[in-house]
Amino acid sequence: AGRPTPGTSEAPLEVLRRVWGYDEFRGEQSEIISTVVAGGDALVLMPTGGGKSLCYQVPALVREGTGVVVSPLIALMQDQVDALSALGVRAGFLNSTQQAFQRREVEDAFLAGELDLLYLAPERLNVPDTVDLLTRGHVALFAIDEAHCVSQWGHDFRPDYLRLSMLHERWPGVPRIALTATATAATHREIAERLQLEDARHFVASFDRPNIQYRIAPKDNPRAQLLDVLRTEHPGEAGIVYCLSRASVEQTAAWLVTQGIDAMPYHAGLDRGVRAHNQARFLREDGVVMVATIAFGMGIDKPDVRFVAHLDLPKSVEGYYQETGRAGRDGLPSTAWMAYGLADVVQQRRLIDTSEGDATHRRRLTQHLDAMLALCETVSCRRVQLLNYFGQASQACGNCDTCLVPPTTWDGTVAAQKLLSTVARMAQRGQRYGVGHVVDVLRGKRTPRVAQLRHDDLSTFGIGEELSDGEWRGVVRQLVAAELLAVDTEGYGTLQLTDASGEVLRGERTVAMRREPERTRTRRASSSG
Ligand code: ADP
Ligand code: ZN
Repeated sequence: AGRPTPGTSEAPLEVLRRVWGYDEFRGEQSEIISTVVAGGDALVLMPTGGGKSLCYQVPALVREGTGVVVSPLIALMQDQVDALSALGVRAGFLNSTQQAFQRREVEDAFLAGELDLLYLAPERLNVPDTVDLLTRGHVALFAIDEAHCVSQWGHDFRPDYLRLSMLHERWPGVPRIALTATATAATHREIAERLQLEDARHFVASFDRPNIQYRIAPKDNPRAQLLDVLRTEHPGEAGIVYCLSRASVEQTAAWLVTQGIDAMPYHAGLDRGVRAHNQARFLREDGVVMVATIAFGMGIDKPDVRFVAHLDLPKSVEGYYQETGRAGRDGLPSTAWMAYGLADVVQQRRLIDTSEGDATHRRRLTQHLDAMLALCETVSCRRVQLLNYFGQASQACGNCDTCLVPPTTWDGTVAAQKLLSTVARMAQRGQRYGVGHVVDVLRGKRTPRVAQLRHDDLSTFGIGEELSDGEWRGVVRQLVAAELLAVDTEGYGTLQLTDASGEVLRGERTVAMRREPERTRTRRASSSG
């Protein structure tokens, strides 16, 4: 049973110690819990691993009645309920995966006042029966987990969340607590507005995760780079490798296995049983590497994930932060490593160009991507940039790649002009080419293609010998990231000028470029890419 003696209420700290066996609340947990216990609303922004669950679980045990938790994480409800039951907390859930008789059992327990916590999938609230059920029982509080799902502009919108404002209208006296690990100032405001939480107390924890070392490396041979990180820094340790597509998830996992890594795939296209099996192995066994699409990870509570690697560029800083935040929940040193290259920018721009939705929607996606690109191309502290994105000021951290091995900038204006004018001259002949050929022309290489196209006649032929192939690719990548150059995203990846290219060509705009630190440059030079 969740309560010691009927009719008496226990102090939150006693509940924490008796049920969970923890000594103290962490950070703002105590304040948040007192607010909700006293009947007030709360909006909680706390990073992954910060301890959000206790913020509603403890008040649910202290207050009379059942704490109703709205959560989109249907796949995890059984695990959550099992974990609570093991602690002696009376919990149940209602979602679409259940048989009618199973639902009825839970409903009966709720009506009999025998549940401390009831987890609900948001779509349950569209069913009049559920609203009726809640009305007949005794609700202690409403917790709205993953509250950013209410944001239409966020990366995780769920239409059913829009209906949650109904909770306040139907049960004005029941306290509500909304929680999320993802919120820029804009999302934060949107949550407050859409959930009618204007009068709620806002608790914004620091989003810094000091034990995570952030690193973003230029992509040349991503598999070899990944293997190097796994073998030299995290041998035998658990981690997650994110890939964009299901196919690359499967190929990467299979390849890692051939290299002796205990890797498994996870994506929404896999059979339900396979997914459950792989997830269970990842959670219960040591040192398993999960290669996954972003379908994996939400709500996964594994404290000793030692690294999160991205082989493809995330769509937004929010997504990147949430995914990397799955590393090091136990507070021990962990790595967030990513490989990033020109093809990533091209691929993400293509996804935006072909996405459904109107121009406003696409503009929003572009803003998300641009913020992510700015993080990749920054020459100052990654953490400062990341926290700044969430509206939190900080100092250079000393524990990210740009702090540890500072990149320098160089004036890339002349290089940009050389490259853009080469593209412009080809365009004058009615031709477009990809990055490989354009760099060959700049470097004065007499390849068969150059000869066949007579590109050695171009006035820019051979004017770019001062930079290596890799450095030219870096120039192209940064110009594309800054939208000073475009890559045809439908056909063959050919380069073309943008509206802003002219400003650089006419000398009205200078271009600062990132120079990769020596370490990565020598590594790149020694590989084939
Ligand atoms: P979040 O939902 O914010 O990602 P969780 O609620 O899953 O985080 O908590 C992360 C981990 O920290 C869990 O293992 C939880 O048991 C633990 N934890 C939370 N609060 C405390 C506390 N006050 N003392 C000790 N451990 C805690
Ligand atoms: Zn730093």
